[in-house]
Order: sequence, then C-alpha cells, then structure tokens
Amino acid sequence: MPADTAFERVGNDLFLWKHLWLLDGQRIRCCYCEQEQSLTWAHQALVHGHHCPGRTASAQYPWQDLVELLCAHYQGK
Ligand SMILES: [Zn+2]
Repeated sequence: MPADTAFERVGNDLFLWKHLWLLDGQRIRCCYCEQEQSLTWAHQALVHGHHCPGRTASAQYPWQDLVELLCAHYQGK
C-alpha cells in the first residue's frame, strides 16, 4: 500500500476514534456518556452508561485501539 494511502487510512481511523473518545491526560473519556478509563485499566473493556450511543455489541478497548492506530501510522500500514 502506498505510504500516502496508509497515512490517509490511519488519519481516517484516528478521526473516527476522536469522534467517540476524548484523551484527557492519562484518561480516555467517552464523548457521549463521559465514562472514563485510566491508562492503568487499558486491559479492561470500557463500560459505557446504559443508554450511551457509543456502545457497541463488542467490547471496546479505546487505549488499545489508540496504540494500534499509532503503531499502524509509524509502521506505514
Ligand atoms: Zn459512552
């Protein structure tokens, strides 16, 4: 994949990540229900509020998603 295309894809994925999550120091917060998770709990799925529109059918690990995005960016994937 050409580097420009990979960069654009990571940029799009990061845009989507930022649409749901807010990075605040060592915490990530859901933009909708404001449930937050500290870096030390990165291995746990974030628990949203009951009626949060940010919930998905599968568990969400925003810290791990962010790391994967950044690694993909630096590895040019
Ligand atoms: Zn939420």
